[in-house]
Amino acid sequence: MVQKILVTGGSGMVGKAIYELVKRLGCENTYTFISSKDYDLTDSLQVDKCFASTQYDMVIHLAAVVGGLYKNMDSNIQMFNDNILINMNILQACHKYNVNRGIFCLSSCIYPASPKRFPMLEEDICSSEPHNSNEGYAYAKRMMYILCKHYNKSYNREYICVSPVNLYGPYDNFNIKEGHVIPGLINRMYKTIMKQPPYENSEKFEVFGSGNALRQFLYVEDFASVILSILYNENVKDGIYNICDDNNEYTIREVVQIIANNFEYPIEKIEFNSRFSDGIIKKTVSNKRMREIFPEFNFTEFHDGVKKTVEWFKLNNSCIRE
Ligand code: NAP
Ligand code: GDP
Repeated sequence: MVQKILVTGGSGMVGKAIYELVKRLGCENTYTFISSKDYDLTDSLQVDKCFASTQYDMVIHLAAVVGGLYKNMDSNIQMFNDNILINMNILQACHKYNVNRGIFCLSSCIYPASPKRFPMLEEDICSSEPHNSNEGYAYAKRMMYILCKHYNKSYNREYICVSPVNLYGPYDNFNIKEGHVIPGLINRMYKTIMKQPPYENSEKFEVFGSGNALRQFLYVEDFASVILSILYNENVKDGIYNICDDNNEYTIREVVQIIANNFEYPIEKIEFNSRFSDGIIKKTVSNKRMREIFPEFNFTEFHDGVKKTVEWFKLNNSCIRE
């Protein structure tokens, strides 16, 4: 019998990447993609309605209130409240409607701010406090992991957590205030070059922060492939999997240079404004556990991923999410 798989967060960057992948594979009819326009997942009655409408076999839970460093710093209460509600409602409904297997999305930014080692392993995830800039988001995600663990333990469910590093790619949120660093930089640099408001008179390009913070990055289409590979891998039943390439940590300064090269924007016009927070300086995680199940997985090289994202942005500029 054909399986039915629910994807929450279907209108987001990761949801769209999964949609495009399953369309290419010719199995899009197996999947139902939902967004907040279909169901507000903070509302348990709406979540119940969603699960009562169809007997799903598996779930890919992506929906979340998501944002870059500066959105997180400004919205810790919303990030905590909404994400706790969404995650609790989804997990309770999965159990109530007997959805036995699912993928649940964490993030490398929920790991400890001052860990005992680098790179961090999955077992370190709750070992000490997250960075104060994103406590709301981090604790809501950590609680989702705890719930998954206990549903697995108490009811033999197969709720598996994936924890990607910073994602980027097509359909990202290019909002300058709320988005992550790569979409934010791409959108602002484009507007600066095109002399679009509010950058009509900008002779310089300002980067927020010192440029010294380190980040690992993952092209969203790679993440979509890994999610499906884990979903269909019967040997994987629980726990957390960090998802990232082997050695791809970059300073924000290097990221800016790569983006500037794509726009042919002069490096000497770039300024770093250290009055903005850098957030956490380093949050390197290990992909050893993922490599044990996917030793051969080929990740998109970072320069190629950024190039593809800039090209997609230019092509879709009139309808980007910002
Ligand atoms: P995104 O583009 O911002 O998409 C978020 C999705 O969640 C959208 O489909 C949105 O629906 C949905 N959503 C938000 N609030 C909702 C609500 N109350 N009810 C129903 N749906 C709701 O996020 P993303 O980048 O694809 O992230 C996907 C997952 O990856 C998230 O769990 C995120 O925490 C995780 N993650 C992301 C990153 C990253 O760098 N982006 C890094 C690590 C982990 P609408 O479009 O209708 O609002
Ligand atoms: P984080 O990895 O969760 O901290 O989230 P971000 O993707 O927002 O990355 C934040 C890092 O990028 C910080 O070190 C910022 O100082 C730096 N950064 C530089 N310019 C920008 C920008 O335009 N937007 C964002 N969000 N961060 C920027």
